[in-house]
Amino acid sequence: MDIKEYIRGIPDFPKPGILFYDISTLLSHADAWQVAMGRMARIIGAYQPDVLVGIESRGFLVAAPLALKLGCGFVMARKAGKLPGGTISHSYDLEYGSDTIEIQDDAIHPGQRVVILDDLLATGGTLSAAIQLCKKVGGDVVGTSALIELTFLNGRDKLDAPFEALISYD
Ligand code: 5GP
Repeated sequence: MDIKEYIRGIPDFPKPGILFYDISTLLSHADAWQVAMGRMARIIGAYQPDVLVGIESRGFLVAAPLALKLGCGFVMARKAGKLPGGTISHSYDLEYGSDTIEIQDDAIHPGQRVVILDDLLATGGTLSAAIQLCKKVGGDVVGTSALIELTFLNGRDKLDAPFEALISYD
């Protein structure tokens, strides 16, 4: 099965000139989503993770089912101010301004094998920030992954951990 057939490119979203890869059509197609998650489970399983971290919000859609499939924990990396209790945060630069992501301070134990997941890797800024955040709390970031990689943006060069995507566009 070619998973690309279930992902659509939407021109000029969220800004003119951007082609947005929409995974809604993959999520709503039961067979294709099962196949995609099965293939992702093989990629992620090889890292033998203790915990999967999903990046808000589409990263949750990938990480939560994979955590169930692989029998490991699931941790949310969220935008600032969304998580209750003690949190640890990491700020990073965007093209215009900056952004902050957080995880709960007891969500990852020092030395745990962590794999971080998102739906898509573009410039790598988001995933790179999540790697720094997980390392800050002592996690051993053994791998990172996404359903889609936009290879022409060279995002993986920013990542301080192994990265593998299910499909790529160049
Ligand atoms: P980066 O930080 O690598 O430049 O951007 C990746 C982040 O932006 C991810 O969290 C991803 O959800 C979102 N993103 C950027 N472009 C797209 C796109 O074309 N499709 C989807 N589904 N997400 C995108």
